[in-house]
Amino acid sequence: MMKYNGVDFDTYLKNYPDQNGFFGKYGGAYVSDELKKAMEEITQAYYTICKSSKFVGELRRIRKEFQGRPTPISYLERLSGSIGNVQIYVKREDLNHTGAHKLNHCMGEALLAKYMGKKKVIAETGAGQHGVALATAAAYFGLECDIYMGAVDIKKQAPNVARMKILGANVVEVTDGLQTLKEAVDAAFAAYCNEYRDAIYCIGSVVGPHPFPMMVRDFQSVVGIEAREQFLDMTGELPDAIVACVGGGSNAAGFFSGFLNDPVDIYGVEPLGRGPKMGDHAASLKYGTEGIMHGFNSIMLKDENGDPAPVYSVASGLDYPSSGPEHAFLHDLGRVKYDVINDEETIDAFYTLSRMEGIIPAIESAHAVAYGIKLAKQMGKGSVLVNLSGRGDKDMDYVIEKYGIRE
Ligand SMILES: *Cc1c(COP(=O)(O)O)cnc(C)c1O
Repeated sequence: MMKYNGVDFDTYLKNYPDQNGFFGKYGGAYVSDELKKAMEEITQAYYTICKSSKFVGELRRIRKEFQGRPTPISYLERLSGSIGNVQIYVKREDLNHTGAHKLNHCMGEALLAKYMGKKKVIAETGAGQHGVALATAAAYFGLECDIYMGAVDIKKQAPNVARMKILGANVVEVTDGLQTLKEAVDAAFAAYCNEYRDAIYCIGSVVGPHPFPMMVRDFQSVVGIEAREQFLDMTGELPDAIVACVGGGSNAAGFFSGFLNDPVDIYGVEPLGRGPKMGDHAASLKYGTEGIMHGFNSIMLKDENGDPAPVYSVASGLDYPSSGPEHAFLHDLGRVKYDVINDEETIDAFYTLSRMEGIIPAIESAHAVAYGIKLAKQMGKGSVLVNLSGRGDKDMDYVIEKYGIRE
């Protein structure tokens, strides 16, 4: 049984967040009164509908028959052999339908929408990964789907825009301000305020107001539950350490949740980008301070006015100036150690995994792989399990253009 700073991990998942959505001092729902009503409706629906055996049974069937779950764990024999006496394994979320973990929470959120009698799902997207996953879920359930996207991102992410349109989603161009993710979030929330009777907002990570950090974690917890069972099956033991990348923190939250009460060292990896100077990275837990943005209290990177700071990472999915409230809490408790990996180390790991194991990782996931390799070298013996949150098909053109093909 694990206990950190008075928090007992035996009962942790039941006790956190509390009924107001707090993980310690982090989380909550800092939104307008109108939006608060909508959040309360979703919270109530979540506690009643999502716990019903009908819902659980239907989601379980969808995961198996449509998503292709359980995804396997692979032992990385050649990579481990090149390091020495440490065994490195990866949980293969890259093999989940649509190529990343995001579909896990999108199918859950869209199924909830269906049970609530909603006709539409609404979300914002930056690089388009969340938009594609949600458009997939909407098509599956026959729901309308409005995806808000900045005009600049629409130009940059043409393949994902095409995917969303083919799947039948309505991509709404946002032309305010810098025309990127922040403006898309604002526009999507504004639309939701007008439409919440018929629509549900589907957040893309363990961020935003309560109940989203809890709900998205719970939908993603399938990753941790599967991984723990599979690892025990394969090796007869638990891994000594587990690693996941942290943007908003959804793949990490779900993966970690399976191991919080185990004698396992847990590492969250944030993007150090070009370096530790403000504006060159998105390592919010390492360099940020407490603050409220997008409806929740967490640790965030702020500019001189206290607003969300501009951030950068080679991985657009990690490019967010905060992390979910649960990560801020686990960080302060010391249950999870958060560390950083820069762009260069990430691209090295991207090529290493491709060349030595025949797996092209998403650049987001390559952050976790890089850290897993680094950790394995430090450990000298034992086992490391890395969550491979997604596949790298979406990143190949960019890597070749920016870094070239390695010899
Ligand atoms: C979006 C994305 C991430 C980052 O999101 P989290 O909420 O931090 O998990 C990581 N990996 C992949 C492949 C993604 O698409």
